[in-house]
Amino acid sequence: MNATVPSTSDDTRDVNKCKNKITKKNRFNLDSLTPIIYFSTLHIIAIHGLITIFSLKVKTILWLLFLYEIGCIGITAGAHRLWSHRSYKVNLPLKLIILAFFSVNAQISVYNWVRIHRVHHKYVDTDLDPHNSRRGFFFCHIGWLLKQLKPEVVKKLHEVNMRDILEDPIMAFQKRHAMALNIVLSFILPTLVPIYFWNEAWDKSFTSQVLRVMLVTHASFSINSFAHIWGAKPYDKTLHASENMGVSLAITGEGFHNYHHKFPWDYQASEFNWYGWNHAALFIDMFAKIGWATNLKKPSRELVKKVAAEKGDGSYKWDEVPMCDSTND
Ligand SMILES: [Zn+2]
Ligand SMILES: [Zn+2]
Repeated sequence: MNATVPSTSDDTRDVNKCKNKITKKNRFNLDSLTPIIYFSTLHIIAIHGLITIFSLKVKTILWLLFLYEIGCIGITAGAHRLWSHRSYKVNLPLKLIILAFFSVNAQISVYNWVRIHRVHHKYVDTDLDPHNSRRGFFFCHIGWLLKQLKPEVVKKLHEVNMRDILEDPIMAFQKRHAMALNIVLSFILPTLVPIYFWNEAWDKSFTSQVLRVMLVTHASFSINSFAHIWGAKPYDKTLHASENMGVSLAITGEGFHNYHHKFPWDYQASEFNWYGWNHAALFIDMFAKIGWATNLKKPSRELVKKVAAEKGDGSYKWDEVPMCDSTND
């Protein structure tokens, strides 16, 4: 992705600002403990949700599965493919639907999600990557969120071009009110629905929702960890990003990660339209059929085969897989 390069004076000011912030935060204070307290508390509550999961009413379990699915779609089809990579366009109703889906996960604002992801792609698996997988599994999975980022990474996060998100009034609104939206749509409403409509016990309803949020959180983190450490590299053997089908199953089709880092503008984030492994692709294609999703980007199959032949690790067997639907090229 492109990044704006500020003028030298802007640049110096930015770096100094970042350094000052980080020097302050490196002292022992509540700020540096916040993510540790946040994740520890939610994990402890999620354990109660796990213990009581088999005593939940069937409707509550179906409700959890529904929220898990739409939450993953909000991340994959929304924050990732739509807002980070602009791999397709949506009309207003679909944008609002996807934003609501994203908001059931208690993840950060779309703005922060996107800028971290754009920096990840630009400096993948280097010291400037916020979740550099060369620093080990724990760091790239969750550790990077539990400690202060390096000043040079913070500088890149400030530099990356986010104009498209900031100039969109809906995304700017979400950025301003992300905390309130997350609390209401991730915890309060999902907990109240089973209590009000089918008399689920309030404690089980709440802790099962926390469990669901933690499962989606780890599924999304697994893209940065599992899919950057384990799997084949049929499209570019020099990348750490790998094809990991387990990750695809966990989070609606984001495990084709070697492909994705080679062709990040592909709206399916995969060469093939295997909907069973890639519910996000199915979701986008369904809305494309009724004209709500448009301008779907996809590289030609010839280009993909050429790149795989030149750079892949030899694990790609294109004659053994079904042809991709290329009508959206
Ligand atoms: Zn990646
Ligand atoms: Zn990406």
